[in-house]
Amino acid sequence: MTGDQGPAHGFSTRAIHAGQDPDPATGAVVPPLHLTTTYKQDGVGGLRGGYEYSRSANPTRTALQESLAALEEGATGLAFASGLAAEDTLLRTVCSPGSHVVLAGDAYGGTFRLLSKVAARWGVEHTPVDLGDLGAVRDAMRDTTAVLWCETPTNPLLNIADIAGLAEIAHAAGALLVVDNTFASPYLQRPLPLGADIVVHSTTKYLGGHSDVVGGALVVADADLGEQLAFHQNAMGAVNGPFDAWLVQRGIKTLGVRMDRHCANAERVVEFLTSRAEVSAVLYPGLPDHPGHAVAARQMSGFGGMVSFRLAGGEEAALRVCERTELFTLAESLGGVESLIEHPARMTHASAAGSPLEVPADLVRLSVGIEDVEDLLADLERALS
Ligand SMILES: *Cc1c(COP(=O)(O)O)cnc(C)c1O
Repeated sequence: MTGDQGPAHGFSTRAIHAGQDPDPATGAVVPPLHLTTTYKQDGVGGLRGGYEYSRSANPTRTALQESLAALEEGATGLAFASGLAAEDTLLRTVCSPGSHVVLAGDAYGGTFRLLSKVAARWGVEHTPVDLGDLGAVRDAMRDTTAVLWCETPTNPLLNIADIAGLAEIAHAAGALLVVDNTFASPYLQRPLPLGADIVVHSTTKYLGGHSDVVGGALVVADADLGEQLAFHQNAMGAVNGPFDAWLVQRGIKTLGVRMDRHCANAERVVEFLTSRAEVSAVLYPGLPDHPGHAVAARQMSGFGGMVSFRLAGGEEAALRVCERTELFTLAESLGGVESLIEHPARMTHASAAGSPLEVPADLVRLSVGIEDVEDLLADLERALS
């Protein structure tokens, strides 16, 4: 079923069936979890299905990789131990000393740290720009620019970048467009058909969806680039274990219904927050006055479950709200079934103080879960008053 699965089937059909053929030996509807490091050979070099050693390939990881490729409409999917492991493998595959990367000024902090503290030591340079300003992006491109790195929506300010517009700029400059699709998930946004070359995921977030597994992924449109990345996946070895791959796959099967509910709950939360005097601004791409609303409406099929807002009472008020909610758990990370609240300036973005990534101190970020929305609204009401 995997090879011909493609976009011929709807998204949720692919999420449930791609890479998930019943086990030929037993008929088990859920393919078995292959906890093995090595594989019996039928005579020297006589591999069954190409399996030799589990860093190179494991059937549970293969199943997840086929699923990821089908969801993002790519040629090749690759799974990793974390989102950052995927990013590191990607950068070391497509960059060399002297290469240059252009990325969003408000890129994920870990991506910025990987470029500024790790890749920089190996001679890879980077320039942060506002990806909402296509002229500024064009000006930042150099002859040596190998990668234009885009995130949309961004964290925690929920800015939007125009994927098709950025693809044109990247390709005119001979660079690859990478899109970190973690916040939207492939259910709401598929960058490859819009012209991106590579999609990056932290599968820790919406794809896993249950806050119980750390993982990452790359999906590419071009099979040759897929082969180069697969070579580096094996040569560098930052793979996920079979149980972690199995957990991500299990999460993926319900991605569509979860995202519908995340979006619906987030819209109600936005409506509630917008009506409150304690809140000075609500950041959500679904709001008509959000500067990226028109682009988001064009390239996404929903506006997602992440909502940020600013408190009229400043930092103190923001900290108080974070400490007073009960259903919204005070914690980092996002994308799970349970609602989370955090204070980016002191938590996820604390290391960005004084850098271009610094975020306002009166900002609160919500990862709106899939609980009953009335309970979530009551929780926020209690915490705000
Ligand atoms: C969490 C996250 C990452 C990093 O992924 P890990 O799985 O934590 O390594 C990258 N990009 C975005 C947008 C993220 O939210």
